[in-house]
Amino acid sequence: MIKPERRYPRMIINLSAIRENASKVAQLCHSRGIELVGVTKLSLGNPTIAKVMRTAGVDKIGESRLKNILNLYQNGVPGPFQLLRIPMLSEIPQAVRLVDEFLVSMPEAAFEIDKQAGELDKNVSIVYMIDVGDLREGVWFENAVDEILSVAGKLKHAILRGIGTNVGCYGGVLPTKENMTVLIEIAKELESKLGYKLVISGGSTVTLSLLENGALPEGINQFRVGEGIILGTDATGDRDIPYLRQDTVILEAEVIEVDYKPSVPVGELGKDAFGRTPRFEDKGYRKRIILAVGEQDVKPDGLIPLVDGLHVLHASSDHLIVDTTESTETFKLGDIVRFRMSYGCALRAFTSPYVEKIFIED
Ligand SMILES: *Cc1c(COP(=O)(O)O)cnc(C)c1O
Repeated sequence: MIKPERRYPRMIINLSAIRENASKVAQLCHSRGIELVGVTKLSLGNPTIAKVMRTAGVDKIGESRLKNILNLYQNGVPGPFQLLRIPMLSEIPQAVRLVDEFLVSMPEAAFEIDKQAGELDKNVSIVYMIDVGDLREGVWFENAVDEILSVAGKLKHAILRGIGTNVGCYGGVLPTKENMTVLIEIAKELESKLGYKLVISGGSTVTLSLLENGALPEGINQFRVGEGIILGTDATGDRDIPYLRQDTVILEAEVIEVDYKPSVPVGELGKDAFGRTPRFEDKGYRKRIILAVGEQDVKPDGLIPLVDGLHVLHASSDHLIVDTTESTETFKLGDIVRFRMSYGCALRAFTSPYVEKIFIED
């Protein structure tokens, strides 16, 4: 048997780097009185990463999948746990046992949580999601106050702890002073009618930029951050976050063929295995390598080679073709090539059972 540390493809997960990122984001949030939910969903709810986040100062763990929360719980990760995806009615009975804070967007879900919380005699918080324009989950902001007040008045066991919003995920809407202020105004109206302070869960990775440059309106007091901590990047804002580390997760793949071939195929052309019509530019003969990694392991267009001059040409399920002509390095069979990854690519790598996960400290 090949030892796990010699199996490829593999991901090298640097826990020191993730710890540093979590600690920096926690300090940034805590210095403004903001609670930080550390989001693990990118890592398939990895318990090691969740523990690192919690010990680095993250206040609670956010997960989109109940199955991941169960795994975290069974691996001794200290909660509290926030369920990020609005719950399926069918999962609420089990979810109430495991989850401390729910994000909801419909009255029926809130009532079902309330009912189950009563049966289990458990303290459960609800954060009601409001859509300020991105068009993913949440009650449309113009209808929010009425709907939320009516729900809050009917809860018997669960408490309406706050309101929240999500941006950047469907419409690609960026967080701004304006849309954050919409949330705060709604909270003020609700607070005056309910008679208590609400949590305002306004931010994710993309919102960190508002925090950094002092543009976050006063009142937002919970952030839910995953990508920034685990990758040090902000996909929606399209940046590497300058004070965070990006060497947190690295993909390594092994060379299984070294080639010198034409850049245009020979023969009649159909579509590729994924129904795509490949395009080719004639650059003459090119130096290429094939790596033993593919669509089942990564999102090929999200691979960023750590060696200069490499260009990912194409991937099928199990083969990745890389043009090495412009690189000063020469490759041979058995060499290992290293990549950084985009959010989507890292998500697939964490989720793929074919990718070994190796944890290191530096
Ligand atoms: C994924 C998710 C987050 C975290 O987003 P990042 O961009 O990874 O920081 C926050 N809130 C909700 C509702 C999410 O689904």
